[in-house]
Amino acid sequence: MNTYLDNAATTKPDILVLEAMMPFFKDLYGNPSANNKCGRTIREAIDEARFNIADNLNCTQCEIIFTSGATESNNLAIKGCADFCSDEKYHFIFSSIEHKSVLNLKDLLLCKGHEVDLIEALPNGSIDLNHLEDLIKDNTVMISCIYVNNETGIIQPVSDISEICLNRDIVFHIDATQAFGKMKIDLTDLKCDFLSLSGHKFHGPKGVGVLYKNRNTNLTCQIIGGSQEDGYRSGTENVPGIIGIGKATEIANNKMVENYNHLLNLEKYFIKKMNASGIEYNINGDVDIKVPWIFNITILNKTAEELVEGLQDFCFSKSSACSKGNYPSHVLKAMGLDDDLIDRSIRVSFSKYTDYDDIDKFVNRLEEEVEK
Ligand code: PMP
Repeated sequence: MNTYLDNAATTKPDILVLEAMMPFFKDLYGNPSANNKCGRTIREAIDEARFNIADNLNCTQCEIIFTSGATESNNLAIKGCADFCSDEKYHFIFSSIEHKSVLNLKDLLLCKGHEVDLIEALPNGSIDLNHLEDLIKDNTVMISCIYVNNETGIIQPVSDISEICLNRDIVFHIDATQAFGKMKIDLTDLKCDFLSLSGHKFHGPKGVGVLYKNRNTNLTCQIIGGSQEDGYRSGTENVPGIIGIGKATEIANNKMVENYNHLLNLEKYFIKKMNASGIEYNINGDVDIKVPWIFNITILNKTAEELVEGLQDFCFSKSSACSKGNYPSHVLKAMGLDDDLIDRSIRVSFSKYTDYDDIDKFVNRLEEEVEK
């Protein structure tokens, strides 16, 4: 059995999530839009999942749109905003360290006649807020920023960006895919217009996500059909997926502090163990502004390719496994790492299921490999 240290790519589904989903494959397979007893039962289950997520985010249920994952949520927020303001040429700002499901929308927006600028990153892994301030123009309509970067784990200054957006009446989208379910997000404190999240990043199923849409913010739907999800996302709902993400949210909420403390302990243990080993390494980004479960490290005398090849019993990534062909990493590049260091960088990421023994095995094997 492989030692799984690739939790930023995806997480193991919680068994309670699978158990909650199963009846909706086996028996409760009716259509939630059907006006019969079965349909109504399923609709109530979807409403409960919607309640769990709204409750977690401290928003209202009508602000939750179920999607197929964070890629779709990011697309819906940004394309939906761009289409809503297609009357004029507008200016969009993304950070340069976004997931490709945001960054790759740049060309599309340019084709639609809008302008797009990217916020530079600092060597500590955070975006440069001064650069953001410089970029803002009179026609800036939207800023999109990742909450926790998926390659480095660096927490971005989303509260500061929120203030900036509120003061200037700019729509703010947060990609909270790597944050939700692991750290508390309260939308009455963190004001934004849109927030994306994905089930499979916090022990829920793949193929289901959420876009939070502030009820006062406008959006043009991107999938047209039977007007499910209040008209914002048509198509028969992925019922087992929605039940799964609802259950995963409930579980995450109940154990948030306990799990976070476990991850903090793992982080300390990992750093101690790495420092006690003979491995020459750097952590990319500032540990003080990083979540404890994601590490991007440069191993000085081995390439990431060699390590992935050599440590076949371990699952970790060369850069982000969640985007094919994202190599060399645009995130590390934006932080100023040169290609040689990027070539030697790997990402290891923990979850509530990771234990000290996993870390021992990994660091011991890494040390052997590095000494070869
Ligand atoms: N945003 C971030 C920050 C991510 O880490 C990911 C997943 N790698 C996505 C978006 C896309 O999520 P999904 O796999 O649900 O489409």
